[in-house]
Amino acid sequence: MTARVLDGKAVARQIFDDIRRAVAARVSVGKTRPKLATVLVGDDPASVQYVELKQKNAKQVGIDSEDHRLPALTTTEELLSLVRRLSADETVSAILVQQPAPRQIDMARVVQALDPVKDVDGFHPINAGLVALGLPGGVEPCTPAGIIELLDRAGVQIEGANAVVVGRSNLVGKPTALLLLKRNATVTVCHTRTRDLASHTRDADILVAAAGKANLISKEMIKSGASVVDVSTNWVDGRQVGDLGPGVDEVAGWLTPNPGGVGPMTRAMLIKNTYEAEVRRRP
Ligand code: NAP
Repeated sequence: MTARVLDGKAVARQIFDDIRRAVAARVSVGKTRPKLATVLVGDDPASVQYVELKQKNAKQVGIDSEDHRLPALTTTEELLSLVRRLSADETVSAILVQQPAPRQIDMARVVQALDPVKDVDGFHPINAGLVALGLPGGVEPCTPAGIIELLDRAGVQIEGANAVVVGRSNLVGKPTALLLLKRNATVTVCHTRTRDLASHTRDADILVAAAGKANLISKEMIKSGASVVDVSTNWVDGRQVGDLGPGVDEVAGWLTPNPGGVGPMTRAMLIKNTYEAEVRRRP
């Protein structure tokens, strides 16, 4: 078998087109144009690149943006002061604080200082709580929402599927498991204390690999025909790879490229969340 491609780049393009049209329609009837504020502390090259791509995507769809750069030695209090100012700024629809932030920053406090309506990443406890409880009105985090969208657009059946998520972080693994559960998958969450990881992954109709460990999942650990989403961004010899070993495409039914799978979907959902944040604020 050669796996079919879960083409994040192509689906992201469709989402950007939808949002571009929606923004243009909104502005044409005299309503406000959404604005995204990005905040980056320090100059980690990968983070700089991610922020620049997000700024570029906003521009491409007609969303205004502000780009706030703070030095690497910024304190939590200094970052809190910027986040509070942006939360109170009537012209800002959505705020993204790029993670990971430098060690001295207490991100839990920073995230809680965001206006939940402008929390475009869905990390504020109010949004995480609404999503966890399955209540309406919460902002779904971008990477997990992007994974679900990618599976949906490929026609992968989530309801009733055995879904295995490798990773339980608050950013990726846990919310992905919750969204799959909401869609009536039977969900198993694996982590570093999981005994016999392969016994779980081999049972997965849908496998989401988000461990951040290159070559963690070999082709022998994949069920034939499974839909496999490789979230991780590991750098090996200057090249981006995920968690999957060689030959997974020979066994899987659907597979995300890496790069070109979840990354573009994450950015597409960020732009969608920015648009929706403005619509919620000013319908
Ligand atoms: P993280 O906070 O480091 O979490 C990694 C998770 O994987 C943890 O829950 C950890 O278990 C688990 N894990 C690590 N090694 C394992 C192993 N050998 N066996 C089983 N489980 C293992 O990372 P994250 O923020 O969730 O991100 C995960 C990956 O996705 C990273 O590579 C990140 O760069 C990437 N990412 C990509 C996108 C995108 O848009 N493409 C977006 C976000 C993140 P414990 O909890 O037991 O430690």
